[in-house]
Amino acid sequence: MNEYHPSHDLEYRDSSHYDYVCKKCDTADTPSGPGKLAEPCSAEDPEAKRVAKINAASGKILEDILESIENITLDEDQFLAETYARLVAAKFLGYSPTALVEDAEAAAQRLLALVEESEVTDEN
Ligand SMILES: [Zn+2]
Repeated sequence: MNEYHPSHDLEYRDSSHYDYVCKKCDTADTPSGPGKLAEPCSAEDPEAKRVAKINAASGKILEDILESIENITLDEDQFLAETYARLVAAKFLGYSPTALVEDAEAAAQRLLALVEESEVTDEN
């Protein structure tokens, strides 16, 4: 596949890493060709939209939880009970608790890496 999918709304941007970015899905091409822009625009994919919405909502909930950890107002036992019950309920809804946990683990590692990176920057 070496052509841009027509579903994207492309805008030229002068960068050494890409030439065109889709205004709808924020996906960029590559110096050698369309890359991911050869695939249909994710902004028109209802499932991709749903995932983006879930990720945004999850980020907000995580912020609240981190704040309550910082302020020492989090009831850890209640938090664990809710988390466990929600994973069981997710299974009933047809989702994989294992996949959710693996994804959460990877997200936590990315966040911890960012925190460590910013702490190193603060020290310098
Ligand atoms: Zn697009």
